[in-house]
Amino acid sequence: MKQNDYGPIPGSTIFRGISGRKTIIMAANTRIATVARGIFKAAKETDSAVFMELARSECDLKGGYTGLTPKDFSEKMREAAEATRFDIWALHADHITIKTGDAKEIESTKQLIDAQIMAGYTSFAIDASHLFNFEGKNVRQELDKNILVTSELAIYIKNNMKGKDFGLEVEVGEIGRKDGQGMILTKPEEAVEFIKALHDNGVYPQVLAIANGSTHGHVYDEKGNVIEQLSIDIPRTKAVAKALRDNKLNVGIAQHGITGTPRDLINQHFPKGDIIKGNVGTFWQDVVFNALKVYEPALYKNIQEWTLEKYRPANPGKKDSQIFDGNCKFAIKEFFKEIYSVEEDTEQAILAMTYAESLVFFKSFSSYGSASLVRKVLE
Ligand SMILES: [Zn+2]
Repeated sequence: MKQNDYGPIPGSTIFRGISGRKTIIMAANTRIATVARGIFKAAKETDSAVFMELARSECDLKGGYTGLTPKDFSEKMREAAEATRFDIWALHADHITIKTGDAKEIESTKQLIDAQIMAGYTSFAIDASHLFNFEGKNVRQELDKNILVTSELAIYIKNNMKGKDFGLEVEVGEIGRKDGQGMILTKPEEAVEFIKALHDNGVYPQVLAIANGSTHGHVYDEKGNVIEQLSIDIPRTKAVAKALRDNKLNVGIAQHGITGTPRDLINQHFPKGDIIKGNVGTFWQDVVFNALKVYEPALYKNIQEWTLEKYRPANPGKKDSQIFDGNCKFAIKEFFKEIYSVEEDTEQAILAMTYAESLVFFKSFSSYGSASLVRKVLE
């Protein structure tokens, strides 16, 4: 029986609770932690389980680009959960990214994981998808390094969690990677081979991130305007999920890069239950910036000027709005103090907006009632 301290529960428990249901659990990247209260408030009222997460780039021992260390992030999420008295959530390390897999990088990754465990994280995503071997002669060879590094880190987490349950997400196929023909999509046999190999190593993830056509952040047209679209390849996503199910691998799909996908399309067309975790990041940052624009115009102007000045030189030919849009996340750390000390009415607006938008996400993900399903597992 869980004590009611409103602390995070294991990600694995959430996945167990929704097993076999046509539901997607939202995972919110709360780069500006102020959004957490509105998300938790909506989660509580709709009885929706939720993950709160930040990626390694967003949050590391030096604070990433959000200015938050794992400890800071954990404290802010716990405070918000307690303030809203919401209990069914996991604290997730999104994209623990490994880019080269050399000894130095593995060592620094273990230090990050140590800090995440110390901070009370209950779920982890190892992303070694960059270690794809393009010279591999078969699927197994292509994935060998990813399998090796993912296994080593997963076992490291397991040993250091000291018997406590935790959520585990792994990644095959780098999200958003393109070749001459367009997006490179994960094939069903790749996903199956990858998970089977992990099982052989004693590693049992509940959720798998695949490359299925989505991109992180916004999508732009050729004029640099933000566009809405359903970019994920649904037949491919279903095929991967089916292959995993047919092989009894007991793993669902994590959908990354949902910002920019209209919620009515998610509601009607996403294969809920095949996809069991849906990551929403940039969207929440947009909510805060949209509020700041009106409520804190001087701060917003400073953020805008800083971002454009810093990133215009590296982006010749792009229009200011796209440069700002793509790089304003780097201003979060620079303006950390100001962003976290806005006026009361600004906070109220952010709360109301994140609350309302969360309702729409939870509805489109069909996650209403999922928290009670998870509570049954806890009891
Ligand atoms: Zn992602």
